[in-house]
Amino acid sequence: MSVHTPPIAREGSGEAVPGPAGPPRVAEVLLPLPLSEPYDYAEPSGFVLRPGDIVQAPLGPRSVLGVVVALRDGAGTNRPLKEIEGRLGWLSPATLSFVQWASRYAVDAPGAALALCLRGLRHGHPRLSPRFAPGAAIPSNLSPTRRRVLEMAAATALTRVDLSRAAGVSSSVVAGLIAMGALVEVSAAPDGFAPPDLERQGPRLNASQSAAAAVLAKLVTAGAFATVLLDGVTGSGKTEVYLEAAAEALSADPRAQVLILLPEIALTVAALDRIAERFGAAPAAWHSGVPGPQRRKIWDAVASGEARIVIGARSALFLPFARLSLIIVDEEHDEAYKQDNGFIYQARDFAVARGKIEDAPVILASATPSLESLWNARQGRYQWLRLSDRHGSAKLPQVELLDLRRTPPDAGRWISPPLAHALTDTLAAGRQSLLFLNRRGYAPLVLCRACGEKLKSPNTESWLVEHRYRNRLVCHLTGFSMPKPEACPHCGARDSLVSVGPGVERVEEEVRQLFPQARVAVFSSDTAPDTASAQALIGAMAQGEIDILVATQAAAKGHDFPGLTLVGVVDADVGLRGGDLRAAERTFQLLTQVAGRAGRRAEPGRALIQTWAPDHPVMTSLASQDREAFTDLELAEREAAGLPPFGRLAAVILASSDPERLEAYSRALAAAAPNADGVQVFGPAEAPLALIRGIRRKRFLVRAEKTVDLAAYLAAWRLRVRPPTRVRVTFDVDPYSFL
Ligand code: ADP
Repeated sequence: MSVHTPPIAREGSGEAVPGPAGPPRVAEVLLPLPLSEPYDYAEPSGFVLRPGDIVQAPLGPRSVLGVVVALRDGAGTNRPLKEIEGRLGWLSPATLSFVQWASRYAVDAPGAALALCLRGLRHGHPRLSPRFAPGAAIPSNLSPTRRRVLEMAAATALTRVDLSRAAGVSSSVVAGLIAMGALVEVSAAPDGFAPPDLERQGPRLNASQSAAAAVLAKLVTAGAFATVLLDGVTGSGKTEVYLEAAAEALSADPRAQVLILLPEIALTVAALDRIAERFGAAPAAWHSGVPGPQRRKIWDAVASGEARIVIGARSALFLPFARLSLIIVDEEHDEAYKQDNGFIYQARDFAVARGKIEDAPVILASATPSLESLWNARQGRYQWLRLSDRHGSAKLPQVELLDLRRTPPDAGRWISPPLAHALTDTLAAGRQSLLFLNRRGYAPLVLCRACGEKLKSPNTESWLVEHRYRNRLVCHLTGFSMPKPEACPHCGARDSLVSVGPGVERVEEEVRQLFPQARVAVFSSDTAPDTASAQALIGAMAQGEIDILVATQAAAKGHDFPGLTLVGVVDADVGLRGGDLRAAERTFQLLTQVAGRAGRRAEPGRALIQTWAPDHPVMTSLASQDREAFTDLELAEREAAGLPPFGRLAAVILASSDPERLEAYSRALAAAAPNADGVQVFGPAEAPLALIRGIRRKRFLVRAEKTVDLAAYLAAWRLRVRPPTRVRVTFDVDPYSFL
C-alpha cells in the first residue's frame, strides 16, 4: 500500500485552510453543462482555492460539480455571489488545459469536454472521506484507545468514521491521531491497483523490435512531447515493443502513468491479460462497460496517480491523470476512435494534443496507419518506426483476388467455386477459416417483387435489414424492428417480398449447406452483443472449436487465432460503393487487417478476396501487398481535391422535426457564413440520411486550408445566427461520417 499525501481529495469544511483577509475572491467555475462561459462564485472564507480545484457549487435548487478555472480579486464585485460549497478534488493543470482545449477545438460548449472528464466522478459514492493508515509519527506512550485505533488502521485503511466505529472510540481520538501524524491519509483502498512489477522481463525482442524499442526508450526517458508512428505488419510484435516503452516510462519515474488506448472493448480483455502478464498486475480498465462504482474507483486512482497503467476505449483520454508520461494509441487507424455524437472528437488526434499539453510522447501503432499519420510520418513530423516482418517463423499471408466476373458464384449464392475449394482443403487439413462480410443480419434489403418497393424504417430514410435469427426486419439506424410481413405494406401483394443480397447469416446458411459436417459460427454484434459473449466466441475460435467463422468487422481486429490459415472476403467491394472521402482507405485497411488474421504461426496463411472490380487500386495494392503504391495514389487524389490531410473539413448538421424552421434556419446560416480566405462553405444540402425518426436533417460541409483556425471560424459563424427552438445544430470537426 503506497502512502502519500496527494494535493487532492481535500474535502469541505474539515480541511479548510485560513484564507487572506478582505473581500472574498471570485472563483470562475467551469460547469460540465452546455453553458457559454464559466460562472462566478464566492470563495468561502477559510478556503484558498486554486485553478483545477473540483468544487461543489449551487446552481438554482441543485448542487453541481465544477472546476475552478481562474480566481480574481473580489473587490469591485457589486453583485452578491453564491458561495462554493466544498472542494472534492483537483485536476492537474495539464488535464484542465486539455479539457479546455478540447471543447474549443470541437466548437462545443466550454464545459462539454469537462463533462466527459468528470463522468467517473458522478458514479458510486464519492470518496469524500479519505482513508487512513498508521503513519511514521507514532508516540511511544499510546493510550489503549489510541492503540486500538492504530491496530484497526494497520489491518485495513479506513475512513475516520469507520475507524472510530470499528475501534469503538470517539471521533476526537481519531482526529487527535491524525493531527499528530500517527494516522496518515493513504492513496489506495486495500483492493486498489497493485503497482506494476518493473523487475519482470518481457519476451526477448528480435533485432527489428529491439531497434524500435531502443528509439522509444530514448524518447520516453527524455520525457518530452514527440509523436511516433509504430508501423508494423500484423503479427510483427508492435504490442511487445510498446509495452517495453511503457515499462521504460514507469521505471524512469516512480509517479509516471501510462495510457493505452484501444478501439474496441472486446480487444481490451485480451490486452488486459497480456499487460497483467507483462507487469504482474492488472491495469485499470476504462470503457463503457465498466460498472459505476468501479468507474469511480478508477477515476480516483487515476487522479491520485495510484493507477499507473490505464487501458481503455477513447473516453479514457479524458481521465484526470496526475502525471501522464506516455500515451499509446493501438490500431490508430481504427474509426472507432471517432466519437460522432454527444461530444464529438477523434481520440487519436486528441491523444496527440494531450501528449503535447502533458509534454509526453505519443505512440501511434498500426499495421495499416491512417493516411493522416502516414503523411505526418513522411513529412517528418512523426518519427517513423517500421517492423516489416512477422515475429519468428510466421509469414504474411499470401493475398489473391478472385475475379467474380470470371468465376461467379451460382445464382443466389455468395461463395465462388475457388473459395469453396479453398474452404474444403482447409477443412480437410484440420485448419480454420474465416469468412468476412461486413454486413449484419441475413439480407441488407427486402424488396417487393410486385411493386418494387424497398422496405424502409418508419419516418426514416433507411432500409430495413432482414434478421432471420430474430425473425424480424430491423433498422440499424434507429433500432426499430417488426416481424416480416406476409404481404407488401405498399401494394398488398402476398408472398412478394424477397431478400436481396447477403449478410453474415445468409453466408452461414450457405456454408452449412456446403459443409454440413463443419462447426460453423457467426460473429457479429448480433451474436456477440456484449463483452462476455464476444470473449466466448473469440475463445472458442482461438481454441480451435470452430472450423469456419463467418464474421463482420468484429472479428477483423487484433485477434490472434493460431489455427486460422484461410481468410475469405465474401464481398470486398461493399465498402467502396457510395464511397465517401475515406472509402478506399477504409477498405484497404479493413481488408489488410482481415487478411492479417491468417497464418500467424508457422503454418502459412492465405487470403482470398472476392471482387467484381479486381482492377480497382485498392484491390491491386492488396494483391501485390504494396501499401506504398496505394498511399501514393490516395494522397495524390486527396491533395488535388484539398481534402485531409492536405486540407481540413468540418460538417455542420442541422436537424429539426419542423421542416419550415429547418429550411429558414439553414438559409439564414448560409447567408451568415463569414467570408474568410482559404475557407469554402458548401451547402446547405439535404443530408444523405435526410430523415431519422421524423427528424429532418441538412448539412453544410466546410473545407479549409490547413493554416486556417477552423475552430475560430466555426465559433464565429455559430454566434451570428442563434438557432431557433426545435432546431439542433451540431458541429463535427474533422468528420468521418458524411451521412
Ligand atoms: P502485433 O501487435 O504487431 O500484431 P503482437 O505484439 O500481437 O503483434 O505479436 C504477435 C504474436 O507474436 C504474439 O503472440 C506475440 O506474443 C508474439 N511475439 C511478438 N514478438 C515476440 C517476441 N519477441 N518473442 C516472443 N513472442 C513474440
